[in-house]
Amino acid sequence: MFNNRTKIKALLQMQPEGQSVTVMGWVRTFRNNQFVALNDGSTNANLQVVLELGKFDDALLRRITTSASLKVTGTVVASLGKGQAVEVKAEHVEILGDSDSEKYPLQPKKHSLEFLREIAHLRFRTNTFGSVFRIRHSLAFAVHKFYNEKGFVYLHTPIITASDAEGAGEMFRVSTLPFDNPPRKEDGTIDFAEDFFGRATNLTVSGQLEGELGATAFGEIYTFGPTFRAENSNTARHLAEFWMIEPEMAFCDLEDNANLAEEFIQYLIRHVMEHNAEDLEFLRQRLLDEEKSKPQAERSEMDLIQKLQFVVDNKFERITYTEAIDILLQSPHYKKKKFQYDVAWGIDMQSEHERYLVEKHFKKPVIVTNYPAAIKAFYMRQDDGCAPGRETVAAMDILAPGIGEIVGGSQREERLDKLEQRMTAMNIPHEELWWYLDTRRFGTVPHAGFGLGFERMVQFVTGMGNIRDVIAFPRTPKSAEF
Ligand code: ATP
Ligand code: MN
Repeated sequence: MFNNRTKIKALLQMQPEGQSVTVMGWVRTFRNNQFVALNDGSTNANLQVVLELGKFDDALLRRITTSASLKVTGTVVASLGKGQAVEVKAEHVEILGDSDSEKYPLQPKKHSLEFLREIAHLRFRTNTFGSVFRIRHSLAFAVHKFYNEKGFVYLHTPIITASDAEGAGEMFRVSTLPFDNPPRKEDGTIDFAEDFFGRATNLTVSGQLEGELGATAFGEIYTFGPTFRAENSNTARHLAEFWMIEPEMAFCDLEDNANLAEEFIQYLIRHVMEHNAEDLEFLRQRLLDEEKSKPQAERSEMDLIQKLQFVVDNKFERITYTEAIDILLQSPHYKKKKFQYDVAWGIDMQSEHERYLVEKHFKKPVIVTNYPAAIKAFYMRQDDGCAPGRETVAAMDILAPGIGEIVGGSQREERLDKLEQRMTAMNIPHEELWWYLDTRRFGTVPHAGFGLGFERMVQFVTGMGNIRDVIAFPRTPKSAEF
């Protein structure tokens, strides 16, 4: 029987009264043939297991190597050593799995994040990834808790979709047609009518359109699932497979939408601060160490925990796109020609522009609203009373320090005629989205929603600079190992 073990996290909280316990885990280090530092993943803190000299066979002691797995039965006693209050005095030690520590890639020393990415199957066994992935779990749990408390329905939208109208990104095709000799139509193009679904299908880039169908019945829904974009951009913020949370609310306008997004982000951060204090503290220290190698001027004013506290305590800044462009045009940075890309009303802001606004100008999260219609998707609600040439839509992006865009959302166009006009102008075939348009035909309502990139949120909370280090097995261009 294996499930009567005590987890190390719980054990380290116990009053040492000679209780008998069984612990299991992996050896981090073994010193002086006496002291095993044992880790079971429940916390970064290792349990010190003490092996009385002479009590155990040499043959057994030789098998206690870094990363070997052990089952230890013993008693909980107060520790005489520094660094821990309690330890386990071993009565019986069983090797569950040997490990050749010479060949084990994780040596007890500091490894670079780049190296650890190459051994992503083992990197969970490091303190950094232990903390990151326990926090990721905690955030995922908090997502469901938040929406459940608010009475939202969790809707599972499809992974395989036939609609490619959304235009959120390049798509991955899903097909069972033979690559070498696909059936062709008379004009030579591939005949997807012969394909598995009888039409061309893709992996979803967003669950939003289906989410809207749910919202216009349940009132409020959210999705939380994987999304796929064949983004050929190798950045520290883009993955080809990432997780997104997309709430969609009926009877909701842009302002309500922004309020919910702000409350949601603050709730997630607060949850982690309450439940993962130890892991946050570890990551705070990690970042401080990392910053030591930077020049003073580039170090951040706040440490990780101060930064998170600040975001929880302060309202996000809210500005319109037009105001954002004005700020950029007035900035010393622009006047000194320090932006690589030009600034003018109508541009799709580059990440350097977004970062200037959040990191240099406001120094806090910023919600930018009312973007030019020309750079946004067809379903966003057209703003009334715009000057000619300055048409905007009820869109919002939330920009976060160090991350850039973390949320993208909008109030949706609920007026059938306006929606159809926009689709025609953007060459989106109406027949393909007949089901979407039906929501506007049968009891349309003002509604809104947004998408929060889950990995970007994990990056923000953990302070990890590269998105590849907050998802277990990252999928990026030319890389799908593990
Ligand atoms: P970006 O401009 O950063 O590429 P986007 O405008 O394409 O983002 P949306 O389509 O609005 O993003 O998607 C909603 C959210 O999903 C974004 O705010 C971001 O947090 C996240 N996101 C988008 N693309 C990716 C990606 N390739 N990898 C990880 N997260 C992403
Ligand atoms: Mn994108």
